[in-house]
Amino acid sequence: NKHDLVVTTIGLTKTYNGAAAVDHVDLRVPRGGVYGFLGPNGAGKSTTMKLLLGLTRPSSGSMQVLGHPVSARSPLPAGAIGSLIEGPSFYPRLTGPENLAMVADYLGLSRGRVQHALSTVSLTGQDKKLVKDYSLGMKQRLGLAMALLAQPPLMLLDEPTNGLDPAGVAEIRQLIVDLARQEGTTIIVSSHILSEIEQMADVVGIICDGRLRYQGPLSGLQDDGVIDFTVSDPA
Ligand code: ATP
Repeated sequence: NKHDLVVTTIGLTKTYNGAAAVDHVDLRVPRGGVYGFLGPNGAGKSTTMKLLLGLTRPSSGSMQVLGHPVSARSPLPAGAIGSLIEGPSFYPRLTGPENLAMVADYLGLSRGRVQHALSTVSLTGQDKKLVKDYSLGMKQRLGLAMALLAQPPLMLLDEPTNGLDPAGVAEIRQLIVDLARQEGTTIIVSSHILSEIEQMADVVGIICDGRLRYQGPLSGLQDDGVIDFTVSDPA
C-alpha cells in the first residue's frame, strides 16, 4: 500500500560531471520504524539524503516525500523533515539551549519544545556550557535535539555515530530506536557499518556505487550474498 510509504523515489539520479553519484534509485521507505541506509564511503548515501531534503536537485527521476511530490518548485515546508547531516552547525559561543531556542523561534515553536527536545536526548543540566566546549557526542545529541525540535514525522540522519566512542555510539543508537518506537517517527539512518544497522533497523537499503543493491527486511539480508561485496565491519 503506497500510503504506508513515507518516501518513494523513482529512478532518482544525480550526476556530477557525468558520473552518477546516485544512479536510478527506487527507494521505498515504510512508515514508522528505522530504515537503515547502508553502504561504503562514497556510495551515494549523503547525496541521496540531500536530494530528499531538497538541498540539491536531481538530474533525473522523481521523489515523493510524506505524500508530497518534491521538486524545486514545491519544496517541503521548513521543519517537515528533521535532519542531521554532515555535522550540524551551531553557534559555538552560545549554549545548547540558546542554539535550540533560535531555531525554535525561527520555526515558530514554543520554548517548551526546546526543553522537551533536550530531555529526549538527555542534555538537560547543561544550561551554562557553551557548545564550543561540548564533546563530539554531546554535539551529536544536540544535533538530534535540533532535528526533532519540530516533532517531524520523518528524520534523516547521515552517519550519526561517526567518530563517537563505543559508549557514544550505543547512546545514539538507543535514542534512535526509542524515537522510532515511542514517537512513531520514521527514521532513515545511514551507516557504513552493518552491525550498527542490524541493531537498529527493521528495513534496510544497501547502496553501492550509486545503485541500490538490496532493499527489504533485515531478515532477507542473511540469505542473500549481497552484503559480502559491499560492507564489512572495521577490524
Ligand atoms: P560518505 O560516507 O563518504 O559520505 P556517501 O555514501 O555518503 O559516502 P556521497 O557523499 O553521496 O557518498 O558521494 C557519492 C559520490 O558522489 C562520491 O563519488 C562523491 O565523490 C561524489 N560527490 C558527492 N558530492 C559531490 C559534489 N558536490 N561534487 C562532485 N562530486 C560529488
